[in-house]
Amino acid sequence: MIAGAARRAGSLTGSGQWAAFVVGTMATAAGWPWAFLLIAYFVASSALTRFGQAKKAERTASTLPDARGRDATQVVANGGVFAVAVLAGTFAAGTASPSSTTPLAWQVAGLGALAAAAADTWATEIGTLFGGTPRTLLTGRPVPPGVSGGITLAGSGASVVAAALIALAAMLILPDVAVAPRVARAVFVAGVAGSLLDSLLGATLQSKRWCERCRTWTERRVHTCQYRTQHARGLRWMTNDTVNFLATVGGALVALALVDALS
Ligand SMILES: [Zn+2]
Repeated sequence: MIAGAARRAGSLTGSGQWAAFVVGTMATAAGWPWAFLLIAYFVASSALTRFGQAKKAERTASTLPDARGRDATQVVANGGVFAVAVLAGTFAAGTASPSSTTPLAWQVAGLGALAAAAADTWATEIGTLFGGTPRTLLTGRPVPPGVSGGITLAGSGASVVAAALIALAAMLILPDVAVAPRVARAVFVAGVAGSLLDSLLGATLQSKRWCERCRTWTERRVHTCQYRTQHARGLRWMTNDTVNFLATVGGALVALALVDALS
């Protein structure tokens, strides 16, 4: 029902609706708290996307294809790792011995992945609106708004807030108060790290196109000037969705690596 409502509201495309249905059902199968967390992330992200939409569309018109709802690839790239990990955690909790740390490890990985997705989404939406001219993380070179790999102060601040909110949710969801604080710390760092990884991959390996007529970087195949753009940098297959997916995998791994160190 939520996926259907989101499609009618224009937040999801047809394929996005079905992907959200599958991802949401997996999270619900993992347990209601996980479903609520995913829904909260999705509703907050959709609301942020709508916030100042006209101004953002104007700022990124030259670089991004026309805005439409999130499609299946985008839904899976952002929520797939989370859904698989928390479902595996619930499954492991039902089969492993009570003292096993495997269920918690899956949950930590899932939370780290969602923190990375949330941090990146918030950074993009807030940064595009309030961030001014983005710069690349490595060289500090200015890039046009909407081109992947650019970061702004406002966007970075938003990503820290998003990571903190997912970490707070981890505190509320995890039943064991002895481990919840260190999981929350690991999830927070994972969110920020995942968002940085997203910017780094976006600036280096992500496919970039060039409009020869306007002499500008873009992600449009046909530029706003109607000139056909050409692939000019990065790996051809490394799309924005691939980068998002890898950033959530990175978030999961960082959370796993840190959860014992931060006790
Ligand atoms: Zn052009």
